[in-house]
Amino acid sequence: MARALQGVLRQLDNAACSAKRPTPRLLAVSKTQPAARVAVLAAAGHRAFGENYVQEAATKIAALASLGLEWHLIGHLQSNKAKDAAELFDWVQTVDRAKLVTALARHRSAERPPLNVLVQVNIDDEASKHGCRPDEVAALAEAIAAEPRLRLRGLMAIPTPWPDLEKRRAAFAQVRQLYEALQQAHPGVDTLSMGMSEDHAVAIAEGATMVRVGTALFGRRPAAG
Ligand SMILES: *Cc1c(COP(=O)(O)O)cnc(C)c1O
Repeated sequence: MARALQGVLRQLDNAACSAKRPTPRLLAVSKTQPAARVAVLAAAGHRAFGENYVQEAATKIAALASLGLEWHLIGHLQSNKAKDAAELFDWVQTVDRAKLVTALARHRSAERPPLNVLVQVNIDDEASKHGCRPDEVAALAEAIAAEPRLRLRGLMAIPTPWPDLEKRRAAFAQVRQLYEALQQAHPGVDTLSMGMSEDHAVAIAEGATMVRVGTALFGRRPAAG
């Protein structure tokens, strides 16, 4: 896995270089991977990890607390899990409705730094109920920016995984346009999270500043649960 990490980091550098863009941050997606495998990547120097399920993450974060890692929630967040999420994570990338903004802000402890938040936007996936509509981004961002316990960092998207990468490129480009508009309104916004194992090079060419990679780092995932 340490070798896979070096390989992925090199791919990100190469993609950024040929697109003449800065190298994005790598989020290692560790859902369904045991804590011991996260520890291997941490020992190789990697710090930022993404989890999809609050319950599963709670166990892993506790087991690895001494390592000082940075944890991102990238799975759909149910409102009744917002309190746990606000206590456990450093970032929540899947904020897609006003109710979550209020709940996360209420439960983020004053002893911790503000919770970093991305608005998840549903750019083209008719089948998914997750992510807000593009025309809802501005209002959600306002609500987040108004909460002192939250810090608005940008946008996250999971476009439809079309087999044709050029179709994905069009979706990534649309997300980038929304991101640029968001930056105009909120100069602190610095994170555009898009691209996974299969399509990170395309996402980087279209302006991703963070890519979320699981399979290419850890190999195929064990089944959930
Ligand atoms: C699982 C997951 C990833 C990583 O996907 P891979 O194809 O394994 O790289 C990225 N983002 C989200 C939101 C995920 O759920």
